[in-house]
Amino acid sequence: MPPRGRKRKASAPPRRPPPPRLECRSLTDDAWYDARLLLQGGSLRVMFQDYVEELDDWYDPDAAELASPRGVAALRARFRVPSPPLDDTRCGDLRHGQQLCVLCAMSTGERMYYDAVLDSVKRAAHGIVDGEERCACRFRVRWTNGPRHGDLEEVGIGDVCCVQNSPVQDPALSEFLDTLTNSFGKGKGDAMAASQATGATLAPGGGEGGTAPV
Ligand SMILES: [Zn+2]
Repeated sequence: MPPRGRKRKASAPPRRPPPPRLECRSLTDDAWYDARLLLQGGSLRVMFQDYVEELDDWYDPDAAELASPRGVAALRARFRVPSPPLDDTRCGDLRHGQQLCVLCAMSTGERMYYDAVLDSVKRAAHGIVDGEERCACRFRVRWTNGPRHGDLEEVGIGDVCCVQNSPVQDPALSEFLDTLTNSFGKGKGDAMAASQATGATLAPGGGEGGTAPV
């Protein structure tokens, strides 16, 4: 998908070579962007294609929200293989309820990609432009994330990308997720070892009437 909205990189040569390895839901606006990943100093860096470095997302392995299997699953769900634009000749392949990634017009005038499911298709005769078939159908979608979550909207084929089921494979992401997952077991082991060494019990957060150690 082509990047939309937000601050575009000004200089001509792209900072990162194509093709994008995956797409990522940004922490800033929860919209989807093409991105590449890098492990840097133990953190996961998300570099959005064609955007300035200041807009990179960073994930700290020690962040509290990543310290649980649920947090890791939520992080993993922010990445997926790129969603290709719907081809003009393939509009008939769409099915009710199919997961799509669709350009959403924001109140600011920007257009960003958010997830939606297909509600229905209003068929129209396809035209031919420069020898190529052009879909004129209209697609009714229901937003499943973003600022219009739950609303219905009718869009043209140029706004529609198809979410793929294939698992995302990225070495930086895999390594970062492995590190997080392994740290759960390690943390538990350390706590148990400490407990055994001191004979202390692992009581949560300062017992009643207890004195906090200084
Ligand atoms: Zn069509």
